[in-house]
Amino acid sequence: MKIEFYGAASGTVTGSCHILHVGQHKILLDCGLIQGSRQAFEQNREPFPFEPSAIDAVILSHAHIDHSGRLPRLVKEGYHGTIHTHNATVDLCEILFKDSAKLAQYDAERYNKKNKGKRPLYPLYDLSDVDDTLKKFNGHSYQAWFEPLAGIKVRFHDAGHILGSAIVELIINEDGNEKTIVFSGDIGQFNSPILQDPTLLEKADIVLMESTYGGREHKARENTYTEIGEIIASASADQGNILIPAFSVGRTQEILYQLVEHYDEWQIDNWATYLDSPMAIEASKVYWDFKHLHDNDAKRLLGDFGNKIPLPNYKRTVTPAESKHLNTIESGCIFIAGSGMCNGGRIIHHLRHNITRPECHVIIVGYQAGGTLGRRLVNGEKRIKMFGEWLEVKAQIHTVGGLSAHADQADMFKWLSHFKTKPDVYLVHGEDDSRQAFKDHVEQHTDLTVHCPVAGDVVMLDG
Ligand SMILES: [Zn+2]
Repeated sequence: MKIEFYGAASGTVTGSCHILHVGQHKILLDCGLIQGSRQAFEQNREPFPFEPSAIDAVILSHAHIDHSGRLPRLVKEGYHGTIHTHNATVDLCEILFKDSAKLAQYDAERYNKKNKGKRPLYPLYDLSDVDDTLKKFNGHSYQAWFEPLAGIKVRFHDAGHILGSAIVELIINEDGNEKTIVFSGDIGQFNSPILQDPTLLEKADIVLMESTYGGREHKARENTYTEIGEIIASASADQGNILIPAFSVGRTQEILYQLVEHYDEWQIDNWATYLDSPMAIEASKVYWDFKHLHDNDAKRLLGDFGNKIPLPNYKRTVTPAESKHLNTIESGCIFIAGSGMCNGGRIIHHLRHNITRPECHVIIVGYQAGGTLGRRLVNGEKRIKMFGEWLEVKAQIHTVGGLSAHADQADMFKWLSHFKTKPDVYLVHGEDDSRQAFKDHVEQHTDLTVHCPVAGDVVMLDG
């Protein structure tokens, strides 16, 4: 029995991928896309550090592309087994994979146009690879045991991170030697909206745990809501539009949910809200469909509205023509669109038409990576280049923190310290300083042993 660590070990947060060896079986835990700079992305083209056809089963913690995004490539290169995950993740992956394939194709075409005469770049995978991959999915409910391979029992627990996100519990029996391994996937915050809290577990011999915010405490969500309310009030007085760049899965649904919850307080009846993103529209349907996964507040608020949200003056724009029409509206609209970091998608067009107008407001609600347009706006740059022209940034840019889908140090510690069996802990999915900060914190306050594996490390689990 052993674990090999690949992506999202070695001090990175993307490309989650680990292999569990049990007897002759190899089980892959997640198979995420490496994200970030162009150079980082190119690593996705490198051969897998294992033979895809030699993997016997895949277990996927959640739909986020940094956990799931290389699965179509795995299938393209010979994986023929089943992909086990939560039912909601099956639906979300269909939306995310199709988008990812389209982006990969667009990216390859753009590269080949720029680099005529060089060896052409092929997309990482295409829509037919996505179709082949989706056929291999087997969805499960939380708490329900299943046996992906003989001698291996698995069940999912709600991780409270995004819809369908799972903490994976595996009971492994090899020659009479039984071990319980818990893979945290990404863990959500306690008391976050829509979703249930992360499930607390008591028993494990080994815990593989994410550590994205291992060294940080989040700002209280309530303070963030107060801040958003104040921004909406001043935008109302200014008579402009409000732009909210948001990721399609998770953040968009939280924003919509807060508009419903604070409808009276924020005087949302003065506004028309547009969700201008085909992908976020699809993801939202899945979010509102899986009502049994919602927390009690969300069940009460979303009630019997099917896969719609009870938000008056709310419109969803699917076609490019509908989206284009929005550019002619000068005031009274809240536009929610991707991409979350303003490095593509329809939000770019909204920025182009509103950024030079002092009466307009941009609310940044998510992390903005270095090198993205979103980061330049957060940094307060006064001139930005879009579509080949320089534009003066006159709209008011607001950065609100506190809406993270990841547990912070206190929540991570709460989750980990609930185990009663003193498991060995392996921190994955975190930059080096976050992992070290959380390791120090845990070792200072408990007698647990915490390891920070690097890519390629193999840990024997016998004995
Ligand atoms: Zn995630």
